[in-house]
Amino acid sequence: MRRSWDRIAMSSFAVAALLANAGCAAEEPSPPRASSAESSVQPAEPAQPEAAPRNVILLIGDGMGPQQLALLLDWADAAGASPTHFERLTDVGHLGLVRTGAKGSALTDSAASATAIACGVEVPNGVISVDENGRALRTCMEDADASGRMTGLVTTTRLTHATPASFAAHVQKRNQEKEIAQQMLSTPFVDVMLGGGAAFIDVANAPEGYRAVTTAAELAALDAAGGPVLGVFSKSHIPYAIDRDQPTEPSTVPTLAAMTQKAIDVLATGPDGFFLMVEGGRIDHGGHLNDVAAVLGEMREFDAAIGVAEAFRREHPDTLVIVTADHETGGLAISFSGRPLLPQHFLAMTEQESSIEAIAQRTPKEAREAVDPKIYGVGRAPFYPAYSWWETSRALETSATYSVSFGTQSHTTTPVAIVAAGPRSEQFEGLMHNEKIGLLLREWMGPEEAR
Ligand SMILES: [Zn+2]
Repeated sequence: MRRSWDRIAMSSFAVAALLANAGCAAEEPSPPRASSAESSVQPAEPAQPEAAPRNVILLIGDGMGPQQLALLLDWADAAGASPTHFERLTDVGHLGLVRTGAKGSALTDSAASATAIACGVEVPNGVISVDENGRALRTCMEDADASGRMTGLVTTTRLTHATPASFAAHVQKRNQEKEIAQQMLSTPFVDVMLGGGAAFIDVANAPEGYRAVTTAAELAALDAAGGPVLGVFSKSHIPYAIDRDQPTEPSTVPTLAAMTQKAIDVLATGPDGFFLMVEGGRIDHGGHLNDVAAVLGEMREFDAAIGVAEAFRREHPDTLVIVTADHETGGLAISFSGRPLLPQHFLAMTEQESSIEAIAQRTPKEAREAVDPKIYGVGRAPFYPAYSWWETSRALETSATYSVSFGTQSHTTTPVAIVAAGPRSEQFEGLMHNEKIGLLLREWMGPEEAR
């Protein structure tokens, strides 16, 4: 076991500070250039000893605060799965803290935060990469495309959901998903799009030249060199990892790691580098539902995707890998409430067989109405979702027994971690606001003459 258990009692901030202290590794040696073609693309910059990254893999854990990271790390310690890919990345990278507010609000939603990360501009909540006059704000993904790089979006949410949309579309309200889908398909510049959302994106309308896939097997069979890809694997969001591969029904949905690997394989065939955004989009949804087992499942899913990205970076040192979040969700706390917190308690969270969402969906309405909410013990579990109280007992009892609580069903202002490895990763040390990420990405992904 790598870490002592006493840090479980620390606040989120203390955990973040601990991670920050542990994560600042020595400079890596200058990597060899990957190809001679690249040096002609990237001019020498006397003020910057290291060239801007050729490839960027940006991984966003939606709703992933420091305590969600600590949940993953504590589970990994208990399960003998340490170090996690996240920890391995901190060992070689640079770590900072990101404040996540939106314009006019200390509290952000995913649209405003993703716009800040994609464009480097602070906008009000709900806005997808437009300014106050409705004009498109240029995104780092559009810059990457203009500079000759290939681009990709991978997510476990609908492809038209706020985080992926903010990199590739421009609308005033995040719920304009039909319009977002139309923008993504009618003027396609994103070479690889993998996620959920068939309700808005019909693969039958895939742009000309795109290969369309709808199952994990079809995705796995794709030749990396065969051109652009549109993969839509579920009607809405991709099911929670905890709900995948139920014994009676093997899933046809790919893992986030499998989507990330295929996206990298395809994008790496381009001659001029790539920009890939990978979203662990449903850590947030587990937080909103106060479903700690679902959160842990999504964290493990996200960590596996970090491993895929980092494996590519180790082979291609001109690649920058960034892992961060748009905000924290749920006010998750793992705390002390009169009983010791033991490794087996973290393992027990993995015994919850499905998400609250899935449990609620298969419960007959009559059963809901027959259940007295009082038996679920308001106060025993510190919090429960009002609209699914009738079938949350298992999750709630897990939470109550193991001293897991949620402070809210919404987002919080808790700063989130950022860890980066590769060219210019030292720029992400310290405390920053989320637009800084977008400003740096826009600078690095911009056309050569703009650098
Ligand atoms: Zn959310």
